[in-house]
Parts: sequence; structure tokens; C-alpha cells
Amino acid sequence: MKDKKILIVEDSKFQAKTIANILNKYGYTVEIALTGEAAVEKVSGGWYPDLILMDIELGEGMDGVQTALAIQQISELPVVFLTAHTEPAVVEKIRSVTAYGYVMKSATEQVLITIVEMALRLYEANVHANMYWQILEDSLNEIYIFNPETLRFHVVNRGARKNLGYTLEELNTMTPLDLKPEFDLKSFRALLEPLLSGKEEQIVFYTVHRRKDGSLYPVEVHLQLFDYRGEKLCLALVIDLTERKALEEENRRKEEQLRLMLEALPNPTYLINRERQIIALNQVAKERGAVVGDYCWHSIHHLKTISPVERQFFENTGKPLPGTKCYFCRADEALNRKQKENCEVNLDGLFWNIWWVPIDENTYLHYVIDVTKYKKMEEEIREQKEFLRLILDSMPAGVMVVDAKTFRIENVNLEAAAMIGASPEEIIGKSCFEIFPESKGLCLITAVGQEMDWAERILHRMDGSQLPVLKIVKRLRTKSGEKLIETFIDLTERKKLEEQLYRLSITDYLTQAYNRRYFTEMLEREIERAKRTKMPFALIMLDIDHFKNVNDRFGHAAGDLVLKTLANLIKNRIRQTDCLARWGGEEFVILLPNTPVEKAAGLAEELREQLSMLEIPGVGRVTASFGVTGYCPGDTLDTLLMRADQMLYTAKASGRNCVRFSEKCPEK
Ligand code: GH3
Ligand code: MG
Ligand code: MG
Repeated sequence: MKDKKILIVEDSKFQAKTIANILNKYGYTVEIALTGEAAVEKVSGGWYPDLILMDIELGEGMDGVQTALAIQQISELPVVFLTAHTEPAVVEKIRSVTAYGYVMKSATEQVLITIVEMALRLYEANVHANMYWQILEDSLNEIYIFNPETLRFHVVNRGARKNLGYTLEELNTMTPLDLKPEFDLKSFRALLEPLLSGKEEQIVFYTVHRRKDGSLYPVEVHLQLFDYRGEKLCLALVIDLTERKALEEENRRKEEQLRLMLEALPNPTYLINRERQIIALNQVAKERGAVVGDYCWHSIHHLKTISPVERQFFENTGKPLPGTKCYFCRADEALNRKQKENCEVNLDGLFWNIWWVPIDENTYLHYVIDVTKYKKMEEEIREQKEFLRLILDSMPAGVMVVDAKTFRIENVNLEAAAMIGASPEEIIGKSCFEIFPESKGLCLITAVGQEMDWAERILHRMDGSQLPVLKIVKRLRTKSGEKLIETFIDLTERKKLEEQLYRLSITDYLTQAYNRRYFTEMLEREIERAKRTKMPFALIMLDIDHFKNVNDRFGHAAGDLVLKTLANLIKNRIRQTDCLARWGGEEFVILLPNTPVEKAAGLAEELREQLSMLEIPGVGRVTASFGVTGYCPGDTLDTLLMRADQMLYTAKASGRNCVRFSEKCPEK
């Protein structure tokens, strides 16, 4: 027993030294305390001896028993008392302390060493026994030791007591039968029989235990026999299965839910683990030939298309081939990111939408949805859209779709783009008022409630030029809100035509002077103006002299030439604001706004002279007579024309080729 430390507590220095010498000789390390107080101080200072040799009488201060008790408060150290006497009173005193016996101070070296060694061994054994007991007592599992004959409990550990709710005292009078309602004496003995007969070393069985409060809990029981001092005892290790059962139940419930969910899905659906084995699948999937436990790429229709390289790589490494956009990667992404993944494939002329839905870290749901129908619908819609586009673009009118709220252009056809002078892409998104600024108010009216707007408008082209158009705006209610369909056609050509027609309608074809109708309108307007502004205006009426003769002598064409020549002559002379018209036959009228009658007469004289001097090819010279009059307050169209006609008549009567004018307004 080397390396052991012994503390000698002895008030006699000599006695202590003597014992210390002996112990040293046997290899023990020894310390000496001369008083009880000194010994307590040493131990409380953290120095623990393996054994204490304690004198009972310690002179003044604490005695040996008191010291031993004080030390044992600090640590359970073995104490062997040293005594000079063995009177019953002394021995009794020693018994009151946990002690490992005593040794006579007079004992021989041999006796002293033997007692010390025994005490040390006993202490060690005690420590071990305590440890085992502690383990047994503290075990979370329930541990029972009972006599297989009497069935009486010897030991019921804390775990068991706690779970059952019985005290040690109560259990002292009980047997395992009191805890196991499923057994009676006969059946329990029958259970123990193979152990007792030696046929089995251990029995494991499942039953229920009943607590003191009557509640039951499921248990797994391990029974085995052992010998204790010639007595056969039965050790029962009991595991409370409540939690395990609950866990199992929970798992079973989850599995059932999953199974029901799988079956509820109309598409072939598979539950797959990270190793890509099928864990579960629904009936639809089974009908497609897949089986539990198989690698997914063996049984799942579309996964059979995985390339052999990818398959080989996965089989060798358990990982998807890096850098490939493969099905395996999708599954791993779903598992690692804990989010759904999907992709679309075209297989056997059908379109499939494939899904990977993570269930937990290692399991994912895999299914496919046939989206062929939707693809076809998409295709149809696209075709319809193209068809619509074609119709729009082949329309001979510009068409614009405008959002009725924002007035943004959402669509235009090619004709509209050509008219606007930009590509559809450039136009879409612009405000419709950029193209039709003047229709701002009108557009709003349309949006407020009017169903249709139909008018001539000006289209503002991108290059700043303008186009007259006829525009029809129609309101259209669509799922994406109210739209304005603006249709417009270019009116440039028609405008030109209209102008031409109008010009034709107011001019005399032969002379290109205005006709009588237009002149009458002009004259009426001028009378109204004169009434308001008091500005003078005049009227010249002229008639070619002996025109009949021209026709007779030179032919009708020559007569026509004379008429044209005369008209040109006058047109070249008069002002822009003056108005020449052919009144009929070879008779003309000239309206001269802002002109007093004298000035008009002067002009008539000039015209007369010019004409009389003009040599007309194939005819020679012709003359004309002129009647001139000015506006007088109260004049009407008729009175004015009549006066001019009278003046002309007067000129004719005066021998022709002359001018006559009314110098004064007629008196009323
Ligand atoms: P006066 O000096 O009195 O005016 O005599 P006149 O011959 O000019 O008058 P009259 O009214 O007798 O004759 C008019 C003639 O003008 C008759 C007709 O043939 C001719 N005339 C009328 N319109 C046209 C025309 O468009 N072209 C031609 N070539 N002749 C016309
Ligand atoms: Mg005439
Ligand atoms: Mg004439």
C-alpha cells in the first residue's frame, strides 16, 4: 500500500513519532497533528489523507471523537482510533462515529500495519459499493431487486419510486404483482420459471405498470437472476415506454397522414430520400410501375432520361454531377434550400411540369403534372394573338389601343405607325395626346361616358408635320380595364379632292373666273360687311360689244378664246381681294371691296383701254362696255346689281366701248 497518506492525531509527540516511524518503514507518507484543532485545520485546508489514526484522549481542547466528527463533516475519511484502554465505555464512544475500528497503542508493529491496511481496503470497498449503489439509485430507468420465491422487494431505486409514487416503506410490503395488473401469482411464476430453472439467463417482456394513483404506463422489463450471499435474487430493469410509445404513435400518425396525402394526389407522386430511393408512392405511381426501395431513375418515367454519365456519377459518389442542370441537382437544391423547385420538360410529345417539394432534410416529394392541355391553350392563345395582329396590321386604317385611365398607348398597328412616322415600339407607352394634342378634352369626354367619338382631327407626326385624319374613338371594356380603340384614316388626299371640288363648284370652267353663284355669295357678304363697317365698295359690270359677230365671223372657239383672254387680262390687273366672276355669256362682274366708285370707274376705264388695244390671235381687237356703281346705304343685292346693269346699258346706249358709272347714290 504505497503512496498512501496517513494523518496521525496524537497529543504525545513521542507516541506519534514512534507510530510514524513504523508507517514510514512500510512506505506510507505520514503527517502528524498534535491537537484535534490542528487536524481539522489540515483537512479543511484541502489536504485529504487516505486514513486518519486518531487518539481518543487529546489532552486539552477537542477529544478524538469530536475531531473525527468534525472531519467527517468535511469529508468521509476513514478513521481508526488509537487507544490505551478497551473499556466498554470507550468502545461504545468509538461506535458512535463512523469508524474502522481501533488499535491499541500497545499493539505490535505487525498488528498496527495489518489494521491500517484492512481499514484502507475496507474504505476502498465502501467507496466502490457506494458508487454502485449510487449508480443503481440514480439510474433513470427503474431498477427493482426482488426475491423470486417470496417476491418481496429488496431494492426499488429512486427512478422507480418516483414514477410509481410509492415510498420505500410502502414498497417494503409489496411485490411485483402489485405493480403488474396483467399478471397473477400463477402467471408471474410461470414467467420466472425459465430463469429459475436455468433455461434462460434473461427474460425480456412487455407489460404495463400501475402507479399508486392507478394510472398505467407501458414498460419493457428485463429480468435476470444473480447470487447474493448464497441467496438467489432477481434484478428487474424496467424501461418506461410512454415516451417511446408516444413517439411511435406520432410517427405512425405522420406516416398515415403522408400516405393519405399521397393517395389524395391525382398525379403520380413519390416520396424520395436523399439517396434517391423511393420511400413511398401513391397508387397512380404504382400503376406506372414504380416500387418502394428502387432508385428513382429506374422506376420513374421521366427520370429514366437522365444521362448515363450523370447516373454513373451519382451511383459512384452519391452526389449530383457538378455543373450539370440535372434532375439530381434540382432535388438537392430543394432539400438544401428548403423550397420547392420545378421545371418543364417535353417528353413523348407531352409537356410535363416536374416538382421537387422538400418534406424534411432528407426527404422530398416528387411529382409531375401533365401541362400539355395548358401548353396547347397557350399555343392557341398565341395563334389568336398573332391572327389578331395580322388583322390589325392588314387594316387600311391606323389603329391604336389606349388605356382609358392613363391615356397611354398600349398597342398600334403598322398603318398607325407609318402615319405617325415611328416604329410601334417607339410609340407604345407614349401618351395618346402626343399624337392627338387637340383631342385631350375630347378623349376625356370619351372616357367619362360617351361610347363613341367621331371627328376629323389633326395627327401630329413624330417629325413635327401634321396629317388631317378622320378619327373614330370607341370605348371597349376589357378584363384589363377600359380601353379606347382609336381608328383613323388619312384625309390628305380627300382634303385635296374636296378643295378641288369646291374650287370647281365656284369657278367658271372656261374662264377660270368665279361663277355667278359664288359671286352672289361674295357680294352678299360684302354688303353685310359694308353695313357694319361703313367701308365703300364698288361693282363693275362689263359686256363684250357685238360678240355675236365674233362668233359668227370667227367661230365659237375664237369666241371662247376672246372670253378667256378678257378674263386673264382682268385677273392680271385687279387685286387679290377683288373678285372677278362670269355673270353669264360674255358678261363679267368685278367686286372691288374697299373701293369708292370713282376709283372703280378709273379701273374700268383702264381695263376698257387695255382690251381695246389688245390683238387677239385669229380675231383681232374687241371692245367691251362697262357699267360701274358703288354701294349705297340701304342697298340690297338686287338694287346694287340693277344699278350696275343700268350703267352698262347706258354705256351700250352711248355707243359702246365706254365706261358709265353712277356718281351719286339714288335719293330715297
Ligand atoms: P351687244 O354689243 O349689244 O352686247 O351685242 P352682242 O352681240 O355682244 O350681244 P348679244 O346678246 O346679242 O349676243 C351675245 C352672244 O354671245 C350670243 C352668244 O352666242 C354669244 N355667247 C354667249 N356665251 C358664249 C360662249 O360661252 N362662247 C362663245 N363663243 N359665245 C358665247
Ligand atoms: Mg350680252
Ligand atoms: Mg355683248
